[in-house]
Amino acid sequence: MGKPTGFKEFDRKKVPWRLPVVRLNDYDEIYTEHKVDHLREQGARCMDCGVPFCQSATGCPIDNLIPEWNDLVYNNRWKEAIERLHKTNNFPEFTGRTCPAPCEGSCVLGITNPPVTIKNIENAIVDRAWEEGWIVPEPPKSRTDKKVVIVGSGPSGMAAADQLNKAGHTVTVLERADRVGGLLQYGIPNMKLSKEAVQRRVDKMTAEGVTFKTGVNVGKDVDPKELVNEYDAVLLACGATKARDLPIGNRDAKGIHLAMEFLTANTKQSVHGDDVGEGFISAEGKDVIVIGGGDTGTDCIATSLRHGCRSVVNFELLPKPPAERASDNPWPEWPRIFRVDYGHEEAEAKFGRDPREYQILSKEFVKDAEGNLAAIKTVEVQWTKDDAGQWKMNEVAGSEKEWPAQLILLSMGFLGPEQYVAESLGLDTDPRSNFKAEHGKFATNIDKVFAAGDCRRGQSLVVWAINEGRGAARAIDQYLQGESQLPAPGITMGTTMQV
Ligand SMILES: Cc1cc2nc3c(=O)[nH]c(=O)nc-3n(C[C@H](O)[C@H](O)[C@H](O)COP(=O)(O)OP(=O)(O)OC[C@H]3O[C@@H](n4cnc5c(N)ncnc54)[C@H](O)[C@@H]3O)c2cc1C
Ligand code: SF4
Repeated sequence: MGKPTGFKEFDRKKVPWRLPVVRLNDYDEIYTEHKVDHLREQGARCMDCGVPFCQSATGCPIDNLIPEWNDLVYNNRWKEAIERLHKTNNFPEFTGRTCPAPCEGSCVLGITNPPVTIKNIENAIVDRAWEEGWIVPEPPKSRTDKKVVIVGSGPSGMAAADQLNKAGHTVTVLERADRVGGLLQYGIPNMKLSKEAVQRRVDKMTAEGVTFKTGVNVGKDVDPKELVNEYDAVLLACGATKARDLPIGNRDAKGIHLAMEFLTANTKQSVHGDDVGEGFISAEGKDVIVIGGGDTGTDCIATSLRHGCRSVVNFELLPKPPAERASDNPWPEWPRIFRVDYGHEEAEAKFGRDPREYQILSKEFVKDAEGNLAAIKTVEVQWTKDDAGQWKMNEVAGSEKEWPAQLILLSMGFLGPEQYVAESLGLDTDPRSNFKAEHGKFATNIDKVFAAGDCRRGQSLVVWAINEGRGAARAIDQYLQGESQLPAPGITMGTTMQV
């Protein structure tokens, strides 16, 4: 716990982001410097609640030892705090920057007061540890004779590689993209998670003996069956990269793109300085419409604003969430409430209004004589429950509207992993086309082959990818050695959020 009376003395205060009008001019991270006194005060708010739901139940999926490091920060014992944090989380700077923080939704203080700023404290501990030079390569003291290959270098593949390397196995990570990190690299924009922060971990893991090979597309450049023959275990951590499209009229109009095409090209060119040529999708001077919300929608809004778009609107099919928890969404569940993320705040600063429009159904794209996107036709919808209690969507007569648009970004979620690796291995998939493997075991129907992360559970969160990578590493270690000293991350009740 922090200070016994801290939660009575101090109000919740988040570490502020940089001012929207300033940060809109660059792709640097949105965060401001951590202030020790501020963080100690916030750590002091952690009370001796007895059963910390934040680190279990509906809280942190990797069971971060939150009350312990809150207390260490309050007592200015930062080095011990990072040691506790690293016991459960390989990459606290990834979660400290990107996690929606289900822990805060189930903080016991949150029953009566605003919860502890857990995510800020996590981020501050790890940033300080890097600054102080406390995080250094620690190669394993001895090696086994076992070789493991991991397909995919997102957070699940990276977490599994880190854990398996710690256990002494020789780990190779194959990645089809030109840089390591999966969606940490090419999905989540630099403003939210800097690519230097990703590379710093990759460099550390490389110094510890993990081999990363980029530009290797397993299933196209390498036969997955060869990997099964060559290695003692194979972990598939390929992500859920099949995007949901919007097959309405005039989908072929020029100017309609999947969110990931837009975001990937932007990170390559605007952040890394690569020349992606015609692959770059510019929002400059355009009326942009982002269809679909979640983190991906917010990232598209924020990136369009940095390009200098003329306007930006974000369509949501569902109603606006309530300001406070609804009665069917009690503590300690994840609060399904209205939130203002960084992109929304920036749009408000630039155009004077929140970009989100709720209960909007897209009906048809409109193109001009040259085939260029010119507008989109929509209708408003209403949601009602039928006699069986099922939600039903009805179009509102007379609410048709046409919105001018020269760029439309589709951010409507993902439909599971691409299937070519699964097909060539004869892998079983579940009804949602994810690679079939039980959480906790992670073994597929093919001997030696395991699956973890979004390719197993469907598009989810960075923290869940780390949970799965750590869990799969333990399962593989057990398979290879008959037992494992690697920790098993818990199975919390889970959080389902749109990204
Ligand atoms: C735009 C966007 C923003 C997001 N923002 C957030 C956020 O703010 N917070 C949050 O918690 N979550 C966020 N998410 C979700 C989060 O990024 C994912 O849940 C997480 O990255 C999944 O990790 P993963 O390792 O399972 O897969 P990924 O990160 O998808 O990595 C899979 C990797 O496997 C590679 N691969 C696939 N097939 C092959 C093959 N055959 N051969 C070689 N390599 C292959 C891919 O190229 C990719 O690099 C976001 C997602 C998107 C799309
Ligand atoms: S990883 Fe996410 S849920 Fe866990 S402590 Fe950090 S912010 Fe909270």
